[in-house]
Amino acid sequence: MSFVVAADKGKGLLAQANNVKVAVAVALFAPKVDFARSDDSSLQLKDPKSGFELVEPNAIVKYVLSDFASDKNTEIEESEVYQALKSGKKDQAVDALKKLQTPDSKQSSANIIVFGAVYPFVKELEGSDLGSWAAEFAKDPKIAEALTKAKSATSIERTVAAATGATKVKTGFLVKEQGNSIQPKDNERNILITSALPYVNNVPHLGNVVGSVLSADIYARFAKNRNYNALFICGTDEYGTATETKALEEKVTPQQLCDKYHKLHKEVYDWFDIEFDHFGRTTTPLQTEIAQDIFLKLHQNGFLEEQTTEQLYCPVHKAFLADRFVEGTCPKCGYEDARGDQCDKCGGLLNPLELINPRCKLDNATPEVRESTHIYLKLNELEPELKKWVAEASEKGDWSKNSKTITNSWLKQGLEPRCITRDLVWGTPVPLEGYGEKVLYVWFDACIGYVSITANYFKEKDEPKAWEKWWKNPENVELYQFMGKDNVPFHTVVFPASEIGTREKWTKLHHLNTTEYLQYEDGKFSKSRGVGVFGNNAKDTGISPSVWRYYLASVRPETSDSHFSWKEFVTKNNSELLANLGNFVNRLVKFTIAKYNGVIPEFDPKNIPNYQAFADDVNSLLAQYIEAMEAVSIRRGLELAMAISSRGNQFLQDNKLDNSLFNDSPDVSDAVVGVGLNLIYLVSAIICPFMPETRNQILETLAAPPLSITDKFELVLEPGHNIGKAQYLFKRIDEKKIDEWKAFYSMPAGSFKGPLLGFSIGLIVPIVATQLYIKPRWLGDAQRELWKIRHEIDFVGWNVRILEESRGFREADLYQPLTCSHSHA
Ligand SMILES: [Zn+2]
Ligand SMILES: [Zn+2]
Repeated sequence: MSFVVAADKGKGLLAQANNVKVAVAVALFAPKVDFARSDDSSLQLKDPKSGFELVEPNAIVKYVLSDFASDKNTEIEESEVYQALKSGKKDQAVDALKKLQTPDSKQSSANIIVFGAVYPFVKELEGSDLGSWAAEFAKDPKIAEALTKAKSATSIERTVAAATGATKVKTGFLVKEQGNSIQPKDNERNILITSALPYVNNVPHLGNVVGSVLSADIYARFAKNRNYNALFICGTDEYGTATETKALEEKVTPQQLCDKYHKLHKEVYDWFDIEFDHFGRTTTPLQTEIAQDIFLKLHQNGFLEEQTTEQLYCPVHKAFLADRFVEGTCPKCGYEDARGDQCDKCGGLLNPLELINPRCKLDNATPEVRESTHIYLKLNELEPELKKWVAEASEKGDWSKNSKTITNSWLKQGLEPRCITRDLVWGTPVPLEGYGEKVLYVWFDACIGYVSITANYFKEKDEPKAWEKWWKNPENVELYQFMGKDNVPFHTVVFPASEIGTREKWTKLHHLNTTEYLQYEDGKFSKSRGVGVFGNNAKDTGISPSVWRYYLASVRPETSDSHFSWKEFVTKNNSELLANLGNFVNRLVKFTIAKYNGVIPEFDPKNIPNYQAFADDVNSLLAQYIEAMEAVSIRRGLELAMAISSRGNQFLQDNKLDNSLFNDSPDVSDAVVGVGLNLIYLVSAIICPFMPETRNQILETLAAPPLSITDKFELVLEPGHNIGKAQYLFKRIDEKKIDEWKAFYSMPAGSFKGPLLGFSIGLIVPIVATQLYIKPRWLGDAQRELWKIRHEIDFVGWNVRILEESRGFREADLYQPLTCSHSHA
């Protein structure tokens, strides 16, 4: 016999069976003939001299052995087994093979044919008679060698499960539904979270967003994803002089003004994905009820007293004048436009009664000195109890360092009675006779806003008393409060002292979290220049809220001031979010869909080399993450979350997840996919506090319900779970955008042009600002007026907003340049 053979070039089980049959036959009975894969021809036996040719494997085996006998086994093999192999139906093939008689040990053509058909299923048939027979049969060294040749000639295409859409997720690890009415529960962790109530009459800038609402939202989402009972409360602070005056200017009622800005605030926070359980306001009947109740209890307990002082009163608009609404000549330096509380020129602190030629800022009338009687909170008498509480609470609740420093500096000076009423209309009425024209001072009132907003949340749920379960339950509730550092004394001194003075059991501050200032670019965030990015500008960039939240959290000014930088913003998107998190999720999800039809295979993590070391790394990072987040170290928490994602990338890298791993080491490939997808699932939970939108995208991709932040890395997604479609989590930002945005949101130093007046007004009246553009002939007065307004706003920590509407005016250069020093008309 002189012939050559070529292997079956096909992929899959049938090709493998064919090649085993032919290779074994040749190895045993025609050892001089080479069996190999040829690119020119497929499975065949050919006699080059005579041109004789066979292409059917069983015929080739019979021809090589010159053994043409058939038995019952050959019949089943050639019909049922062949059909199943041809259509790639593994289960069906195994069932058909189970019908075979266990062959004898003869190296006959019938037995070689059965061996070829059994070989692809040795694993499945392990332990059965047929399986043991095949193992025994393979022991002949010639056959073992033939098997190696057959395997290297066949590139097996793995059969994987078809897409089923099935959800297979272990229970017990998911986020619990909090229900419609969130209330504390016995023997569970109950966390009440507040963020400082933003003052209603302007738009928040990014420093405000990161300092209070975003920080509180990140912590609230962490708490909820840890399955604590957590209630997150915020709202607009609406009473006070500034609102009243602004309403006068806009010729609307204070309530109308508040309605407008409350809506504007809500829109900004909604865009940033801030998920308050209730975003309320302080101008409600419940605020009056609760604030007056606290006031009266302080009164009954002897912690209030009357004091009469001299104040400036405007006879034209018939009101006492707040310090900032009086101006006149500075008694120290003679500057004509000094404000009631401070002289802009010499910087001296003033009492409005000291001003020479004082005038009302609203109508220029000369104010009169009148006596006014006010109520003072006797902080001096509450001081010993307050000090004791501060010493304990600041340690127990691990207050941030700056908040301890600020509080202690107040306490060190010794507390004095503090005036808690004002001569105003727009506020909570003072519930005492003879005080008809006075209201509670906004800072006494504002902290009570947290309580009344909670009460309003439960009023809407028809459970009017349930707020007390949060606020009068100190044993079972931990109160976490977030704010910029300028608000600290009101939360650590004035409000807790008021609570103590009622002699009721109030829930008092547990953890106080404060931030320093976020500066814009190189310090240009407009304390003096009026430049920056505001809440509503963020949306205009077209970049997703998740990216904004990520960036702001990563530069959160926790221990010192930090800087907003467009360059860093773009870099973090491109090299952290896209290259780390985006790449990890995308690479593995795409691979799973392409190779596994999106179905998690049966897997055993032990098949992964060094699996334990990997799991230990993840668990160690996860433990550090939980520790950091429990301590509200938000920046550190974010770094650790990203480190876990990074570890995921390294895991895919170390195990070389690719086509050859899938084909050559199926057990390893299956385990890498199973474990890797579960790590993505864990990452979705731990990034949720920072990037809720991205978390939701990942859940959609995994087609899985929200996972809680588990104590340990768990394999919650099970074999058979069918993931969803791949989607891009992040987009590359073109670096050209850096200069574009920089130019758009900044004005270079020294080019402070008239149109910025519009920006300054925009600070207070963003929506109507365009109507306030000033004609050149007014410039003198207007200039002076606006500088003062800006100064006041800077004083309380608000920065100037650039109005979108004013872009067109920037180049117009219609007005005289203003410098940054105080100008005179
Ligand atoms: Zn007046
Ligand atoms: Zn002065």
